[in-house]
Amino acid sequence: MALIVHKYGGTSMGSTDRIRNVAKRVAKWARAGHQMVVVPSAMSGETNRLLGLAKELSPAGGSTPELMRELDMIAATGEQVSVGLLAIALQAEGLEAVSYTGWQVPVQTDSSHTKARIESIDDAKVRADLSAGRVVVIAGFQGVDEEQNITTLGRGGSDTSAVAIAAAMKADECLIYTDVDGVYTTDPRIVPEARRLHTISFEEMLEMASLGSKILQIRSVEFAGKYRVPLRVLSSFTPWDIDINEEAKSGTLISFEEDEKMEQAVVSGIAFNRDEAKVTLLGVPDKPGIAFQILGPVAEANIDVDVIIQNVSQDGKTDFSFTVHRNDYARAIELLEKTVGPAVQAAKVLGDQRICKVSIVGIGMRSHVGVASKMFRALSEEGINIQMISTSEIKTSVVIDEKYMELAVRALHKAFDLDQDQAA
Ligand code: ADP
Ligand code: ASP
Ligand code: MG
Repeated sequence: MALIVHKYGGTSMGSTDRIRNVAKRVAKWARAGHQMVVVPSAMSGETNRLLGLAKELSPAGGSTPELMRELDMIAATGEQVSVGLLAIALQAEGLEAVSYTGWQVPVQTDSSHTKARIESIDDAKVRADLSAGRVVVIAGFQGVDEEQNITTLGRGGSDTSAVAIAAAMKADECLIYTDVDGVYTTDPRIVPEARRLHTISFEEMLEMASLGSKILQIRSVEFAGKYRVPLRVLSSFTPWDIDINEEAKSGTLISFEEDEKMEQAVVSGIAFNRDEAKVTLLGVPDKPGIAFQILGPVAEANIDVDVIIQNVSQDGKTDFSFTVHRNDYARAIELLEKTVGPAVQAAKVLGDQRICKVSIVGIGMRSHVGVASKMFRALSEEGINIQMISTSEIKTSVVIDEKYMELAVRALHKAFDLDQDQAA
């Protein structure tokens, strides 16, 4: 008997028929003798719908703590509906099942509304239910802070809920069921020739997620790494009654071992991110401390900076660019125009929201030279201009015009032979 956590995403929970299917699959695992904890997301489109309602009443948006608190209050209801429906569907399958919201468990988080971090999970109640033979259904995406405010974990956060629960309970495995049958070389919606990876190393998965691949929320991968949670991504669209042993081996395993086979692929995957924007300060004095004078206030305003570039100086002046999340773009521009720009005597502040970041990822890059130049050549052959470059041991990222994103991803996928069958 094992303790297994299943996570089902929005599409997998998208209708009562699909919820019934989820229940049948979970029932199969429970009847095979496993203790089951299930973490569903809101039904597909529901979180967007709920946040859209809030937007109607507060068109200007903003990020005041008061507004953010209410957004969490609203968004968390999507998952509350899901857990109730799934528990009913499980009961209809003849199982004993009980549902909990995040605060009922409780899943304790910090108070950063709309992007809260899980601090601890009290598993006493869940364990008691499991011992009594119940399937426990826990709402993904949500928690509660010290003051009893409902919080949410950021978009895609149900992945993190599931892995954190698996970590807290020392589950034998966490299975992330979704609308694709595993982790692909890139998003199959953009490149139909993308191939499923049988395994991906934890480090590569971490990079892919942090570089924008939405298949797993980055924090879920971080949790898996920190607590060594065995993690697998697989399809919820296979027939629910397929052989359980076959199902347990399907999809993509996030592996903590770097075996020889994985070393063979220099580049394992391509990630892209449309959520960033670029800001530039033109004509700032090129002197010690300037980067700190610019980025210090940006950090103080709680704006995350990603790629940074500073040009060589001419006449003692230089241009300084960096990227931020698009949600922070307006605040970043305002800060630069009103405060930072005048303080560092910048000639001008420029902004560009129509950029994207495309990245190649692979642990094989550690031991191979010329990978980045191959990337740049593939992009130049398509006439794509590179605006910024950032590299680390196992990835190279470029910032380009958003309108070339799909072209760039396809060209790179081909250039690195990712559409060819490689050793699994
Ligand atoms: P869920 O609702 O189950 O959490 P998501 O929409 O969050 O599902 O994530 C699954 C989607 O991630 C897929 O439908 C696919 O379009 C996208 N995706 C992005 N990158 C990849 C990748 N490398 N491999 C597989 N799917 C990817
Ligand atoms: N329902 C949330 C979202 O749409 C959380 C999730 O699906 O993981 O972002
Ligand atoms: Mg998701």
